[in-house]
Amino acid sequence: MGPQSVTRSGEPGAKPRLTAYQRRLRAVTQLHRRRHLVQLAVVVLIVAMAVRHGLETEVGAPSVDALCPFGAVETFWTWVTTGSFISKIHASNLVVGLGLLLSVLIAGNAFCGWICPFGAVQDALTWVRRALHIPTLTVAPRVDRALRYGRFVVLAIVLVASATTLKLWFADFDPYVTLFGLHWLFEPDPAAMWIGWAILAAVLGVSVLVERAWCRYLCPLGGVLSVLGHLSILRVRRNPSACTGCDLCVKPCPVGIDVAKPVAAVSTDCIGCLECVSNCPTGGALEVSAAAPWTAWRKPITLDDAGSTRTRGPVAVAIGRRPPSRDASTPDPTRQEAGQS
Ligand code: SF4
Ligand code: SF4
Repeated sequence: MGPQSVTRSGEPGAKPRLTAYQRRLRAVTQLHRRRHLVQLAVVVLIVAMAVRHGLETEVGAPSVDALCPFGAVETFWTWVTTGSFISKIHASNLVVGLGLLLSVLIAGNAFCGWICPFGAVQDALTWVRRALHIPTLTVAPRVDRALRYGRFVVLAIVLVASATTLKLWFADFDPYVTLFGLHWLFEPDPAAMWIGWAILAAVLGVSVLVERAWCRYLCPLGGVLSVLGHLSILRVRRNPSACTGCDLCVKPCPVGIDVAKPVAAVSTDCIGCLECVSNCPTGGALEVSAAAPWTAWRKPITLDDAGSTRTRGPVAVAIGRRPPSRDASTPDPTRQEAGQS
């Protein structure tokens, strides 16, 4: 029985009754499993499509380009101004792109955490790094902030190049296409493909040391979603009156967001993985909630404003245990939720 489990008195052998926090933790753990299953299913689907396309002898099977929502971004200007698409782009890209737009308006950048196959590959590399005990590379906050603009630099280059050449210009450099297109398997051409291979190798290598490095610093679609995420209804929000300032939510974030930063909602770089929520030991302090997008645009709130103080340095609180309340007059939301006094 866990440290906070409660047994029904007078019922020998009865199942322990879980606290509200334990129930929430179990629900989020199940959500994690579902996320990885969805990621795996999408990877299998994309690989199956690429194999079918690679094995076809006559026209028919679509390539992995046809299901990429970034194709809609790449062709958007040409489509609006001329009514036609750039090469290798189909109506399917617009349909997938529209679906992604709707999902962003509802659930922010969850596409990156749940659907994108290249995000899944980077998550797998993190798993490998942990298994092999390879240390991570820490990027200084100021450098990290500057590097995140790299996504918009890449995006600008791709948009201009696509609109001027009328071709799917980025495909030769895009590590997603290089890896999942399977051209390296069915029609390898080192002389033409070496740049894409070199970029892919560099991105995968860096992603071992810096979790989701491509997503954080270079992915142009990630940049688009980060901007549109400001219009999202569902966001990870913190409740400053419940937050104890333990900062346990910060380290698990795969995209390096300072989750403990006292703002109304976490950064729109959030990929909706819910690692932070599951690591928060205080019920009600950090959760996904729906609200009008502009409520997240308010000026930053400070924990001091909410009558709380931030604790700095190591905190002796284990996941699953409630940290000590620093203010006896502040009600404990976990116990309140559980109906305990
Ligand atoms: S940021 Fe780019 S590569 Fe990363 S998960 Fe999102 S779309 Fe995929
Ligand atoms: S802020 Fe939380 S939900 Fe968002 S990416 Fe980071 S850990 Fe995942």
